[in-house]
Amino acid sequence: MKIIMLGAPGAGKGTQAKRIAEKYGIPHISTGDIFRANIKNGTELGKKAKTYMDQGALVPDELVVDLVVDRVAQEDAKNGYVLDGFPRTIPQAEALDAALAKINEKVDYAINVEVPDENIIHRMSGRRACVSCGGTYHIQYNPTKQENICDACGGKLILRDDDQPETVKNRLQVYHEQTQPLIDYYSKQGILKEVDGTVDMNDVFHAIVEILG
Ligand code: AMP
Repeated sequence: MKIIMLGAPGAGKGTQAKRIAEKYGIPHISTGDIFRANIKNGTELGKKAKTYMDQGALVPDELVVDLVVDRVAQEDAKNGYVLDGFPRTIPQAEALDAALAKINEKVDYAINVEVPDENIIHRMSGRRACVSCGGTYHIQYNPTKQENICDACGGKLILRDDDQPETVKNRLQVYHEQTQPLIDYYSKQGILKEVDGTVDMNDVFHAIVEILG
């Protein structure tokens, strides 16, 4: 099962993608996580990506597409995967479709987690990320057991640079201009599924499971 998660930054698609990956036994592939791991490890890719990410801009397509095409060709992805944060532009979606078509495959579902902008801005200001393992939490909706300490690894929690309010506004604008057109793109392919992302995250997950079966 090959699944794409769509939705504005902060719509909760990462949280849902992780749960889908767990339930269906497929890898969760997050381009944001891949870039953050590269930044942490000080790679060339990380250095290039950081300048865009810190401004809330998209990393150029040419730095993203090959990375994802290689990743989905790996052994653990042979029964499917859930892509989180990719594609984010029409050229990225076309590149993915073209790479899959070469091996006679296609995306099965594009799940759009719908949340209005007002809710997004409120949510993002409460997001916290672990500096050590990258785990994400929310002070209100998904709090850690101990304040500011990661449940998974004991690392310190911070508000990521790209979750700062000014950056969030840029990210939303970028989302509307460059990523939202994908809703129409996958709708035309007949694989778009919409879920209400404003409800409790367990209910969002149940709605997704109803779709995936
Ligand atoms: P995310 O964790 O998915 O919200 O991604 C964080 C940041 O990484 C984004 O704001 C972009 O700067 C960059 N990024 C992640 N995925 C992509 C992508 N598919 N295309 C371009 N930039 C991306």
